[in-house]
Amino acid sequence: MFNDFNLSEETLKAIREKGFEKPTPIQEKAIPLLLEGKDLVGQAQTGTGKTAAFGIPVVERVNPKEGTIQALILVPTRELAIQVAKEIKDLGKYRRVKVLAVYGGKPIFGQIDLLKRIRPQVVVGTPGRVKDLIERGILDLSKVKIFVLDEADRMLDMGFIEDIEFIFSQTPEEKQTLLFSATLPPEIRDVIRRFLKEDHAEVRIEPEKPTVEKIRQKIYRVGDRKLFETFLAKLEETPFRKGIVFTQTKREADWLADRLKEAGFNAEAIHGDYSQNRREWVLRNFRKGNIDLLVATDVAARGLDIKGLDAVFNYRLPQDAESYIHRIGRTGRAGKEGLALSFSSDAEDDRLQRVKKLAGDTFEFVNLSDRPLERGKKNSKPRRGFGNRKFPKRGFGRKRDNFNSFGSRFKGENPFGD
Ligand code: AMP
Repeated sequence: MFNDFNLSEETLKAIREKGFEKPTPIQEKAIPLLLEGKDLVGQAQTGTGKTAAFGIPVVERVNPKEGTIQALILVPTRELAIQVAKEIKDLGKYRRVKVLAVYGGKPIFGQIDLLKRIRPQVVVGTPGRVKDLIERGILDLSKVKIFVLDEADRMLDMGFIEDIEFIFSQTPEEKQTLLFSATLPPEIRDVIRRFLKEDHAEVRIEPEKPTVEKIRQKIYRVGDRKLFETFLAKLEETPFRKGIVFTQTKREADWLADRLKEAGFNAEAIHGDYSQNRREWVLRNFRKGNIDLLVATDVAARGLDIKGLDAVFNYRLPQDAESYIHRIGRTGRAGKEGLALSFSSDAEDDRLQRVKKLAGDTFEFVNLSDRPLERGKKNSKPRRGFGNRKFPKRGFGRKRDNFNSFGSRFKGENPFGD
């Protein structure tokens, strides 16, 4: 229980208000060590509660009465900066801890102004922007007590190591350093050796299963003209409470949301052409459960932390397979099983091929199109020459007339009730 950690009443109240009932495994292990002041390496992925694992000790250990930066958290992306800052702000609310996110892609002057006005104790930032602010003489790190590298492997992949070294050199020698990373390759081990105390603690949380394994996936290949009709029919027979439908374009999102409303669904589109007010209204109502289906493009959905999604629908498969994994990963969180239904136009078989290559046989495939499935070509014109070699015997090249056989994982189970 959180009560066992010896936390202040203010922080316990904030934790209760967030609805956290008991600590996640990483919190269980990391919080006591961090409250003691230990350096720590946490091997854990997003979704394990790692933000609160360092956020709770951070809000407990900074002194809100002093307007100096006492905790600096570096993260790889702007979305993460916003998300982490929000979580820490929530946790530190009753202790009156001030938190600010600083990141690139936005004019620096507004952030400089906020830094001066708010005088935060906690800064969450991307390495490039933090370095820039230090060089301008705006960010004074001489009072930093806690230095956190979050998603360290991603930051290194993004080439931030020199910025991180510079930022680290601006912090006091005596401080607590934490590093969180999903993986610990040799480059990260090297960073740990250089930045953390030798007697640091290490906490490792094994992901239960790769997320996609917990998601029941089904992909329908459909005649291009039958896309909507099939989508609607399947949607109607699928039980779900809260889902996202991904579309390719903003126009398609609007069009589809309108058609779904006509069909009696509680659906709303969300994208960048709407005003901030409207976007917030849609999100608020979706979170509350007043809207059942959010119709969005990848761009609109990026960075949205929406809980409790039990289904993801791809009205079309995305252009690249990584987006497919990202999209479906929005369901099946927190140990629950998720559902991902996708529809692939037979005019876009190349997308299907790419998803197949990355997702392997984790999905069930249903071919509802009469057009033959061609291999590795954008349209369905027959492929000539040696190009076919790209698709080896396994997978798409085999048993072309019995494509269903790829969905081996679900064979006989009929998890979709159809
Ligand atoms: P993270 O791994 O930090 O990205 O956290 C994933 C999600 O779990 C976030 O939405 C957190 O607010 C939520 N969360 C963190 N700790 C707990 C907890 N102890 N109980 C329930 N939810 C939590």
